[in-house]
Amino acid sequence: MDEDQNFRLPSVDVLLRLPEARELIARFGREPVLKAVREKLADHRARRQTVVATAVLEETAGALATRMAASQRRAFNLTGTVLHTNLGRALLPREAAEAAAEALRSPTTLEFDLKNGRRGERDDHVRGVLQEITGAEDATVVNNNAAAVVLVLNTLALGKEVIVSRGELIEIGGSFRIPEIMARSGAQLREVGTTNRTHSRDYLTAIGPATAALMRVHRANYAIQGFTAAVPRRELADIAHTAGLPLVEDLGSGSLADLRRWNLPHEPMPQEALADGADLVTFSGDKLLGGPQAGLILGRRELIARLNANPLKRALRMDKARLAALAAVLRLHSDPDRLSQRLPTLSLLTRPLDSIRDVAENLASELGGRISGSSVCVERCQSQIGSGALPLTLLASWAVTISGTDLEQLALHLRQLPLPVIGRIAQDRLWLDCRCLEREQMSELLEQGWLRSGAPP
Ligand SMILES: *Cc1c(COP(=O)(O)O)cnc(C)c1O
Repeated sequence: MDEDQNFRLPSVDVLLRLPEARELIARFGREPVLKAVREKLADHRARRQTVVATAVLEETAGALATRMAASQRRAFNLTGTVLHTNLGRALLPREAAEAAAEALRSPTTLEFDLKNGRRGERDDHVRGVLQEITGAEDATVVNNNAAAVVLVLNTLALGKEVIVSRGELIEIGGSFRIPEIMARSGAQLREVGTTNRTHSRDYLTAIGPATAALMRVHRANYAIQGFTAAVPRRELADIAHTAGLPLVEDLGSGSLADLRRWNLPHEPMPQEALADGADLVTFSGDKLLGGPQAGLILGRRELIARLNANPLKRALRMDKARLAALAAVLRLHSDPDRLSQRLPTLSLLTRPLDSIRDVAENLASELGGRISGSSVCVERCQSQIGSGALPLTLLASWAVTISGTDLEQLALHLRQLPLPVIGRIAQDRLWLDCRCLEREQMSELLEQGWLRSGAPP
């Protein structure tokens, strides 16, 4: 571009009358185009640059495309973590996604009783199936498991003490820490025992007039090994009930299905916690349950009624779309025989190694030609479940690994694709774990942006 004292710019009126401008207006609307054109002209004016009309419109088109693009985009999760919190955790089964979309587009019977034409209860859409699967007396659902813990503590223990073992004062991903959540919910934390060992006498001596509940927290993302002791749930329930107190348990992921059926390690099940005497259990909807973000609370009818009567329940309640999706996912759980084919989270966790290897080999041979100057291999790797479920469990998997190039730069170029491809860098290689990549998705991954022709920009 020329830079001189007599630089020339086209006028806004002239620009907007060009056919290219009319196309932009048809696509983005008049106001946004006008605003973007003015911004581009202002840039050139500030730089005293002569520019022709078509160039301004091309720049405007680029700016509008970037501005109007959704920032939450579909991506390829090749991190090897199946339930990746930052990538949105569980993938919904088709039935659940369709139920959610339908609820979003139409009026629904969310809180409407068709029998008598009066107000109904939104929890009714999931209560029955949860009672059937778990044998729980009653159930309620809220925004997420963090909200479930807040609601339980605020309802049962506002201004009173809740006794928790020091070995269970967990932090999940920085923003959820048991002591902080307790404080915000208005309950006072009464820590007992030590990091590695807590005994029944620790709970017994702590119980007093200020105690409102005993709480167990599942050590979701770490393990304590070696010289350890914890009070078994049944025993803790006895201690609580003898003192006339409820036992509440935050299960974190919680699995409604027994994962041993698929040769995965056992994850604590809400059914077991209730059978052992827990009075209320809370767990997430979008971890091993494989559903939408939600916090499920199961347990004694009288306690669930108290939760529902708390004004906070209204603030923490679920919306109709996620409720519809959750109900669909729970219906799948009522048939465990077919669950591993129908629930994406479980089918990814139980995916046969050969099928992952097959995708990895295909992807490697395609990428070999497109990422020049680097070495592309297929290697064994280990996937993780993620989201604090079974933190010590690693699942054998296969990855495409790329080395011999600027890995940070390559990872950036892959993230900047229209459908971002997200892997991880370790041991001087970029790892693309193929567990969560279906064969049918490969062409979509490869036929986009700079990958189509090869050679990063
Ligand atoms: C994940 C987790 C939570 C938080 O659940 P969200 O559904 O993410 O709110 C709370 N407690 C435990 C033990 C967890 O593992």
